[in-house]
Amino acid sequence: MLAQCRASNSEVPRAPLQSILGELASMALKESEALVLRTYPLREADLLVTLFTRLEGKVRGVARSAMRSKRRFGGALEPLTLVRAYYDEKEGQELTRLDSCDVLESPMASEVSYARAVGLGHVAELLDELLPDREANDAVFRLTLTVLDAMRGPEIWLPVTYFDLWMTRLAGFLPEFSECMACGRPLNGSRAFYHALADGLMCGDDKRLASSELSAESRQLAAQMFRSPVESFGGEPWPKSKGADLRKFVMQILQRHIDKRLVTAGMLEKANF
Ligand SMILES: [Zn+2]
Repeated sequence: MLAQCRASNSEVPRAPLQSILGELASMALKESEALVLRTYPLREADLLVTLFTRLEGKVRGVARSAMRSKRRFGGALEPLTLVRAYYDEKEGQELTRLDSCDVLESPMASEVSYARAVGLGHVAELLDELLPDREANDAVFRLTLTVLDAMRGPEIWLPVTYFDLWMTRLAGFLPEFSECMACGRPLNGSRAFYHALADGLMCGDDKRLASSELSAESRQLAAQMFRSPVESFGGEPWPKSKGADLRKFVMQILQRHIDKRLVTAGMLEKANF
């Protein structure tokens, strides 16, 4: 779905000079495909917007009068809307000025159930917390687009599991799945355990007190997810219990690295959808 939120046909035509000057001004703007991660009210009608741009990664900008100007931003700043963003920056200033956005794809185009809202919120929160500022990451951008596609339906556990697992890997935090981190023994064919304070998997002899088990089935699932696109898992029923230990394992790793408890992790744990 392509919705324009910039100039509309109903506008009064601009004078030629004005239009030339407008063209010149827009040439100084940076342009990038971007996902909206979150917005905060700033002052008066301004919004502080965090974007995940394809061009240069996570960028923060101010959308002036966004709460008033439906013409420039109407509907474009909902979290996880895919937009073409136009922005510029002044030297020495941390925040860019977000000029306008064209909506390329909106998550609101499909029905937003509570489950889907939590799933979308989780993707946005994880990106916002994990991505460093100003560092392009096309692999994460492409992953996010495919996961958002998979999240159009009512099922969220498959895309959430896939996203969490891949984000852990792309962030460089994923430990070796095939051997015990303590003794190096291969774990294929035997039980594997993990602990909230350790990154890797442990064998039955080395597991710590209060460890949890990562089932052979979930380890196999992870291997499958690293080989196959998210679409290839479609069609199978995916209850919350499927891969729950795998999600808990990677979520513990991610939260330890960002040194923070994710709000949506708690919502997903409590969810009964
Ligand atoms: Zn061991």
